[in-house]
Amino acid sequence: MVEWESVLHDAAERVQEVRDKLVSAREGTERIGEGAGGDITMRVDQEAEQEIIAVLKQKGDVRIVAEEQGETGPKDARWTVIVDPIDGSSNFERGIPFYCTSIAVLEGRTLDDTKHGLVRNLVNGDTYYAQAGSYATKNGAEIKTSTLQNLREATVGIDISRTTLPVVKSLNVLIASIKRQMHFGANALETCFLAEGRLDGFLDIRGRIRIMDMAAGQLIAKQAGAVFSDERGGPLRPAISVKERFSVVGGGNSTLHAHILAKLKG
Ligand SMILES: [Mg+2]
Repeated sequence: MVEWESVLHDAAERVQEVRDKLVSAREGTERIGEGAGGDITMRVDQEAEQEIIAVLKQKGDVRIVAEEQGETGPKDARWTVIVDPIDGSSNFERGIPFYCTSIAVLEGRTLDDTKHGLVRNLVNGDTYYAQAGSYATKNGAEIKTSTLQNLREATVGIDISRTTLPVVKSLNVLIASIKRQMHFGANALETCFLAEGRLDGFLDIRGRIRIMDMAAGQLIAKQAGAVFSDERGGPLRPAISVKERFSVVGGGNSTLHAHILAKLKG
């Protein structure tokens, strides 16, 4: 029996040590190459992932889907662990204090099989964790999503980086209907802001979000009360693969989620 909660906390603690060491040495931003997910790998990404994988490798029957090294371990393993060692690497590179580590454990082959999720804010150490069937926590205390039901007052995280005109057009009515649109540059941590009610909604309809960005955060936010779908209101069914890209629409509650979807339809 693997005690996943303590395994994930242990792995995140080791990533924190790597980050702290590199920041105090003013290192970590050296570019090493390209990760399996297609983004630039910096030294901090590589060292953080190596620490997580070292912890996971002791746990036996595990398949690992990780941003830098890609997919390893037996295909028929009982557990699949999805790892983004540093989500928000470009914030790290620029000294913008918003990035995290994200680790999710699946027992099965779909996002709905996510059993444990942990996201750690590496700037201040805030640690978000949830287990399927239980409540979500931040630093051990229960968190809940926003109860706001009207779009006019809503602050919504929307990733519009490198977006195209058709996507801008689909977002036009929504953005005009809400109080504020935000994007901080680390989707896993942004999803945790949805979980604790700092954001009322979160979406990325560019078809570019990755399983590494979403697996842990969506479990944490769901256990805190959030509702997720694809951009048309259907279930999220991404393949569990480092190459997969998809869209996601999240609301702090079902009413706000429905309002967001309605505005996307125009
Ligand atoms: Mg990353």
